[in-house]
Amino acid sequence: MRPPAYQLLADELRADITSGRLRPGERLPPEPELCVRSGVSRSTVREALRLLSSQHLIVTTRGVTGGSFVAHPNAGQLSDALSTGLTLLTNSPAVGLTDLLELRRALEVPAAGLAAIRRTDAHLAEIRSALFNPEIDDFDVMLHAHSIFHSAVAKATENPLFELVTRPLYQVTLGEEVVDSLPDGYWAQIDADHRALLKHLTDRNAEEAVVTARRHLDYLSEVNQR
Ligand SMILES: [Zn+2]
Repeated sequence: MRPPAYQLLADELRADITSGRLRPGERLPPEPELCVRSGVSRSTVREALRLLSSQHLIVTTRGVTGGSFVAHPNAGQLSDALSTGLTLLTNSPAVGLTDLLELRRALEVPAAGLAAIRRTDAHLAEIRSALFNPEIDDFDVMLHAHSIFHSAVAKATENPLFELVTRPLYQVTLGEEVVDSLPDGYWAQIDADHRALLKHLTDRNAEEAVVTARRHLDYLSEVNQR
C-alpha cells in the first residue's frame, strides 16, 4: 500500500533536514509553494508539517514573520524519542536488564573519565543537585535523582552524543519484581557511589572516576542477578 501523501511529503522534507540541505534555523518553503511543488492540497501540507513538528524537526510560528523553521537539534527531545523505543525494547523478552546494564557499562565507564577531565563548575553544580538523601527521600525521588545524576555526568563529557545516547537508558522503567527485590541498603550504596564519583570529578581524577563508575555498575549488575 502506498503511504498517504502527507507522509511522502514529510519524508521528503525530513530528508532535506537530516541531510543538512535545510540547516537548523532555516525557513521551509511557504505552504503554497509546497502545495505547488508536490502537487498536494494545503491540508496535506499542513498534516506533513504537523508530523515533522511532532518529531521536533521543525518549529512553526504564527504571525507575519511566522513560518516553519528547521529546529535546532536538542539532545533532550531527541532522547525522549529514543527512550520510547528503548523502553519498549527493554520491556520485551528480547532485551533484558542485563543487556541494558552491559550497555550502560560500555558507555558510562569511559564517560566518567572524560567527565573528570572536561567538567566545568556548572557541570559539578548540576551533578551535585542530583544527590539525594537515602534516609529521608522516597523511592520515586531517588529514582528520578538517579536518572538526573547520570545524565548530568554524561553531559559533563562535553560530548552531546553521550548525553543523547545514555539519557534514555535511565528512563527505562523498572519492573515491579525488580523494585520489590532491591536489597537493604541499596539506596545507601547508590548514594555513596554517586558522592564518590562527584568527588573524583571535582578532583579531576579520571582514573578514580573510571574505577568508581565501574564499581557502581558492578553493584547494579550484582543486584540484578540476585
Ligand atoms: Zn547511579
